[in-house]
Amino acid sequence: MDCIFCKILKNEIPSKRIYEDEKVIAIMDINPVVDGHVLIIPKEHVEDYQGIKPELLQHIYKVADKLTKELMTKLNSKGLTFVVNYGDSQLVKHFHLHLLPDYQLKEKEMDVDKVFEILTK
Ligand code: AMP
Ligand code: ZN
Repeated sequence: MDCIFCKILKNEIPSKRIYEDEKVIAIMDINPVVDGHVLIIPKEHVEDYQGIKPELLQHIYKVADKLTKELMTKLNSKGLTFVVNYGDSQLVKHFHLHLLPDYQLKEKEMDVDKVFEILTK
């Protein structure tokens, strides 16, 4: 299957992982809209939000909660936005939840490497 996130999961293409457990990974978005733009990606290939099982969604929200606290503390952000795209708005057809610290509050200031260093040290 030609899915970029499945390739990331199989380590066929590199990513900056900030979290991993048996069900999901969280990586830095390659083209961040804001500092600390993170994607939570389930290990199971599910095309979009319509195919996500409630138990998996519950787990993704638990991880989102943990990472939200971490991102807000480490990046000193005052807000955070969750985004799930669908249909033509969804470019990668493997479900993912965007975490966007300070979306609409603050301009981007750092490059991804710097933010990754802050989040993983
Ligand atoms: P969307 O499917 O519209 O919700 O957005 C897909 C997101 O995946 C975009 O924000 C991209 O920048 C991001 N993305 C695409 N390829 C990669 C990659 N190899 N590593 C990290 N993020 C990626
Ligand atoms: Zn996939």
